[in-house]
This record gives sequence, C-alpha cells and structure tokens, in this order.
Amino acid sequence: MIAHAPSAAPGALPGPTVRLPYARPWLDAQDLSGMAAVLASQWLTTGPVVEQFESAFARAVGARFAVAVSSGTAALHAALAAAGVGPGHEVILPAMTFVATANAAIYLGALPVVVDVEADTLQIDAHRAAAAITPRTRAIVAVDYGGLPCDYRALAALARRHGLTLVADACHSLGGSLAGRPVGSLADLSAFSFHPVKHITTGEGGMVTTDDPALAERLRRFRNHGIDLDHHQRAQADTPDYEMVELGYNYRLSDLACALGLSQLEKLAGFVARRRELAAEYDWALAGLPLAPVARRPGAEHAYHLYVVRLAAGVDRAQVWRAMKAEGIGTNVHYLPVHQHAFYRRRYPGAARRGCPVAERAYHEILSLPMFPAMTRRDVQDVAAALRKALGVARRAA
Ligand SMILES: *Cc1c(COP(=O)(O)O)cnc(C)c1O
Repeated sequence: MIAHAPSAAPGALPGPTVRLPYARPWLDAQDLSGMAAVLASQWLTTGPVVEQFESAFARAVGARFAVAVSSGTAALHAALAAAGVGPGHEVILPAMTFVATANAAIYLGALPVVVDVEADTLQIDAHRAAAAITPRTRAIVAVDYGGLPCDYRALAALARRHGLTLVADACHSLGGSLAGRPVGSLADLSAFSFHPVKHITTGEGGMVTTDDPALAERLRRFRNHGIDLDHHQRAQADTPDYEMVELGYNYRLSDLACALGLSQLEKLAGFVARRRELAAEYDWALAGLPLAPVARRPGAEHAYHLYVVRLAAGVDRAQVWRAMKAEGIGTNVHYLPVHQHAFYRRRYPGAARRGCPVAERAYHEILSLPMFPAMTRRDVQDVAAALRKALGVARRAA
C-alpha cells in the first residue's frame, strides 16, 4: 500500500508543518493500474468505464441507477434540476452544511430556505422543515452531517405528505446505513462527492443515485448539455443526429476518473470499517476532556467522514485550532452556517427566515479532528494528547 498525496481541501491544512491533516485520501498501486489501463486504451472520457463505475456504485448503495458527474456540487445541481426545481421555487435545507448545498438551489433560480438543526445531531430538524413549507416549496435537501444518516423515515413521510422531492446530500455518508438500508437508497435522489477528502476519490467527481428511471434519464441529459443522446448512445443508435432539448451542462466524469473511482470503491468497506474503529478509539481517548463528539442516532450506521467534537462552553475554539496546528495537527470547522456567509448575508438576507440559533451557537463549539483510513491508533492518541494540552487540562495519571 502506498498512502501519499496530502489533500488540498479548501480549509484543510496541508504542508510541511502539519503532520496529521484532518483528511487525506488513500491511493495505492491498484488505483494506479486501473488508471494506467484507461490511458493505454486511449479512450479517456464517456467510454465503458463510466458505466462500469456507475453500475458498481449503484449496486454498492442499493439503488437502481447511478449517474456519474464531475463533482458533488454538480450532483446536487443535477439532483435539484431533475426534481424540477426552477425559478420561483423554494428548497429547504439545513443551516449546518457546506455552501454547495444552498448554491445548487441558487444556480436554478430557486430560493434556499435555511432551517435550523437538531441540537444533538446538527442535522435538519424535521419539525422546522415542516414549518418552513410553503406553496412554492419543491424539495427538501437533508445533509448527512459528519457521515450520520439523517432521520429519513420522518423526512420521507414529510416529503410525501406535501408532494415534495427528498434529496439526500450524502457527500459525508457513503457507506453509512439506516436500519440496514444503505445511504444512496434512502431518498428520492442522493448526491455524493469524490473530492479527495471524502470516503472515496476520483480527484474531483460526484454521483447521483435514484430508483426512478425518469429521474435517471433527466440526470444523464443534464450532465451532457441537455442533449438527448450522448455520442455513445448515438453510435449505438447508428445516427449522427442529436438534439439539445433543455439547458444542461458539461458535468461529465471522465473514464480516467471513473477508473480511479472503481478501484477506490472496491476498498470502500475497508475504509468505512477503519473509520469506525478510529471513531471508537477517539471516543475512548477523549473521555474526560471538556468536549463531546456530536451525537449519533440509534439505528443509524455512521460512516464517519468527519469526527466532530463540540468543545465545552467558554472554550475559545480559535485558540484550540491554533494550538493544534502548532502541534502539527490539522483540525477544521464544518461549518459556518450557510446563511452567515457574506454572500448569503448580502444577497439572501431572508434565506433563514426564523434565524438558526442552534446552528449559530454550535458553530462556535465544533472542531473536526483528523479522520482518514491511513491513521493509526497512535495518531489518535497524539491528537488526544495535543487536545489535552491545547485545552489546558492537566494530563491524568496513566
Ligand atoms: C464535499 C461536499 C459537497 C460538494 O462536493 P464537491 O465534490 O466538492 O463539489 C457538497 N455538500 C457537502 C455536505 C460536502 O461535504
């Protein structure tokens, strides 16, 4: 195994001074040989490997269809477009998420309606989501914050009752499950990211899964300029003709990237198992410190994209972040609530109509600790020791 290449996530802390970044991809010789085979074939995009990756991915998450796209952001954009979101519509989403979740609604001319999160899981609060529904609402986007699957039973019932599309932003939760059902099969549409900090990587890349053949068809058209046939289908149909039937994008994922995705996917179960072991190590190593991991949900199998702790009230999070960095340990903050970003404050001051005090308060307490499959038990202990020092807590007798 060759584990190398520090991640370059926005906000990550790669570089010589950080020994342990908060995330790092696992790349090995199998990944290289899969990509080398595609290069040798000289067929670099929209070839056979895209479909191979899509069908392997669909199988892995228990969905009928998977459509590969160029990023997790493109996956969210495509999912909302397939759901029929357009100008004048509203899309309900949680305050505690990456900006891309809300931006996807704006790309389509819709209004993101930001609702507050549950105090324990920091995930969308189904009651607040229900209260935010208006005649203009078209979709609800649930975010599996940290890797914990949301309460999809409650959310699916709510969406069904109001005729809305339920979208899972599953960019954190590949490999997770709820009551035995894998993430990717829990919502009408599920969006995944293959950015290097996520569970599996294609460099940049994403996927949307669904059980609905009509939605899958719309996703495929949307990622290819809104053209009814891609060149592959044209060759099969034995015609040079194609027609653009609606506005789409070039959101295709290349064969080269899909070859990496395929070999990464084979390692997914091992990656997730390792992340769960590391989380258990953290739980044990951090016991007694003035902090607690973000709550889990009974019946939900966590995928641990992130291991997020909440610092006790009164602890200066920025100071802890700096002290950890001085110890060579990269930590990160996921996230500044989406409506508090400068763009949203300026352009969409009403995005969070009722304010989001739970998310706004949690923001000052959350810290994501290093979490990636190549970490060792010793690394976890090093993080715990650095945290203990950073928090100014006396080391307990061994
Ligand atoms: C990573 C991520 C995205 C965007 O994925 P990209 O592949 O970086 O475009 C969207 N939502 C969440 C919650 C994410 O973590």
